[in-house]
Amino acid sequence: MIKQVIPQEVCLKCQGCCRFKKIDSAWSPCLLDEEIQNFLDKKIPPACISSAKKILPISNPQGEGFICPFLDIKDNKCRIYGLRPFECQLYPFLINFRGKKVILTLDLNCPYVSGHLKDGDFKKYTDSLIAFLNSAAQIRILKDNPQIIQAYEDVLDVIELELQDEA
Ligand code: SF4
Ligand code: SF4
Repeated sequence: MIKQVIPQEVCLKCQGCCRFKKIDSAWSPCLLDEEIQNFLDKKIPPACISSAKKILPISNPQGEGFICPFLDIKDNKCRIYGLRPFECQLYPFLINFRGKKVILTLDLNCPYVSGHLKDGDFKKYTDSLIAFLNSAAQIRILKDNPQIIQAYEDVLDVIELELQDEA
C-alpha cells in the first residue's frame, strides 16, 4: 500500500474522485495484471473490468455521469479500500507518458493539491514517493504493466522516472 498524503476526512467530504463524465473516461483507474487476478480471485465480477484493463464505471444512480462500481455513493467511501488499485492509491499523482519519457505528474484539479503544493510536508511526501517509484521492484511492476502509464492531460510534471535505467 502507498502511504496517503491527503487526510481521509478531506477526501470523504470531496467529490473529486471516483466519478467520471464518460463511461470510457481516461480517468477511470487502470489495473495492474496482478490486481485483475486478485479481483477475479476475490470474486469481483469481471464486468467491473474493461478490455483496456481499467475499472469500468457504471451510471451514477444519483445523477449525471458515471461512478466507480466500488464507490458507496451514500457515504462517499470505497467499498474495496484495502484492495483498491495502485492508481487509486497513487492519486493525485499519476504516471504519464511524454514521448519516450515516463513522468510522475500531479493533478492540480485535486483541491487539496492546489492548496498544499508548497507545504514542506507535501514536498517531503513527494520525495519519498519518487524514491519508492524508482525502486527496482516498482520499476519492474511498471515495466510489466505498460497499461498503467497513460497520457493524462493538464497535469503538472514533477519528475522523470528512471524506468529506462533498470537492467
Ligand atoms: S480530488 Fe483530491 S481531495 Fe478530492 S477526493 Fe480526490 S484525492 Fe481527495
Ligand atoms: S476503487 Fe475505490 S478508490 Fe478507486 S475509483 Fe473505485 S471507489 Fe474510488
